[in-house]
Amino acid sequence: MLRVRPRSLRLRLTLVVTLAVGLALTIASFVLVNSMSNTLFGGMAESAARQLDKVADAVERGQPLPPEEPSSATMILVEDKDGKLVASVPQTGMQAIERRPVSAERSRATGAVTEARPPAEDFEIVPARTVSTPQGEVRTVRAISRSGQITQSIDLVVNSLLVAAPVLTVFVGWLTWFAVDRALRPIEAVRRRAEAISHSTLDERLPEQDTGDEVGKLTSTLNRMLDRIASGARRQREFVSDASHELRTPLAAMRAELEVSLAHRDSADWRNVATRLLDDHRRLERLTGDLLTLARLDEAAVSRRAEAVQLDEIVAGEITAVRHAEVRPSLTPVRVTGVVPELVRLVRNLLDNADKHASGVVAVSLALDGRDAVFTVDDDGPGVPPDQRERVFDRFFRVDGSRDRASGGVGLGLALVRRIARSHGGEVTVTESPTLGGARFEVRVPGAVSGSARRSARTGRR
Ligand code: ADP
Repeated sequence: MLRVRPRSLRLRLTLVVTLAVGLALTIASFVLVNSMSNTLFGGMAESAARQLDKVADAVERGQPLPPEEPSSATMILVEDKDGKLVASVPQTGMQAIERRPVSAERSRATGAVTEARPPAEDFEIVPARTVSTPQGEVRTVRAISRSGQITQSIDLVVNSLLVAAPVLTVFVGWLTWFAVDRALRPIEAVRRRAEAISHSTLDERLPEQDTGDEVGKLTSTLNRMLDRIASGARRQREFVSDASHELRTPLAAMRAELEVSLAHRDSADWRNVATRLLDDHRRLERLTGDLLTLARLDEAAVSRRAEAVQLDEIVAGEITAVRHAEVRPSLTPVRVTGVVPELVRLVRNLLDNADKHASGVVAVSLALDGRDAVFTVDDDGPGVPPDQRERVFDRFFRVDGSRDRASGGVGLGLALVRRIARSHGGEVTVTESPTLGGARFEVRVPGAVSGSARRSARTGRR
């Protein structure tokens, strides 16, 4: 079957509403007319039966016929056994009605009645009764009802409905057409503006109405989304420019080194040159590695395989790489769910920094606080000044003075630590070490349990 589906929401809504209203009005009209006719004819039948009984009873007892009920549409006829009219209520019926066939159904045989009103239908709404008079004569008592008034009122109602229902339906359709247009106008405005906002004009925003309705909410949500996209794009641009800058510095140093050495190729200390170039090379390697890791972490969708990780084993392994400072470890077996290479990187970066900045001692602790694994690295170095404790986690941020070549860092280490901690649902903060006086870096990772997975697997108990 062919399904027609108009493209315009406006047309669709108008059609649906109009059809629904039209259908509802049609059904309501049928119900109304039907119940009206039932009520009116029911009342008429009741009254006819009552009058017929009264007259029949009077005939049976030989009493005078009862008077006509006021404003009755029913005439009672009394006929003898040959069908000849002998009496009627009201009396005038005698002159108005001659003997004529009246069927039980609606009969059109009303030719004898001459009235100014349109010819009414006379019919027997209740069955006739046959009685015998005290003298023993057989009499048939009939009730002839005139439906004219009832059919007239019904016709009036039907005619009014035939006019009112279509007019109302068309009116509702027209109203819907304009109401939907009004409701959709802001959406169209939003659509047009959104089309104009291309990548180069990410600073523009959609027109926001302060209506609080669905369209208003949609627009402010879209604008917030644009805010996020714009700030993401801005951060990306900054990141790329910072990264290129950081890459250029060691490359320029290497080039200068080589050019100077080549200019004095005979007197140059090539062994020394090679050592320094190798240092720069290492720096570049570390930088590109950090950049790659950060980029990977930013792509949340990349399949990062999380598994149960024995964090204390990672920390213990990385402690052995600390070269200069004396390490004071305090480790409890803690298991978290995480990505091993990322957690290794987190621990290594914090230990590297502590080793680099400590005067002589680094304290490392791993403990369980409720369901959080808490990993802290304290050192007895200069610490991080309070006003820089947030910014040290920014990409390419370095505390003044550490931008020298020897320290080697480019300010990505702590950015990586924070990124990794957050991608594990945790957080990293820096404060002053209460025990050693230098910096204290604290990492919290939720969803941790105590104990060692491997040991329990081997021995069958915790
Ligand atoms: P980098 O790779 O250059 O070390 P980081 O992101 O690891 O960059 O560190 C950012 C800044 O924080 C650096 O300038 C560093 O001097 C400072 N910092 C990091 N760890 C410590 C610490 N344990 N004590 C004092 N300063 C630190």
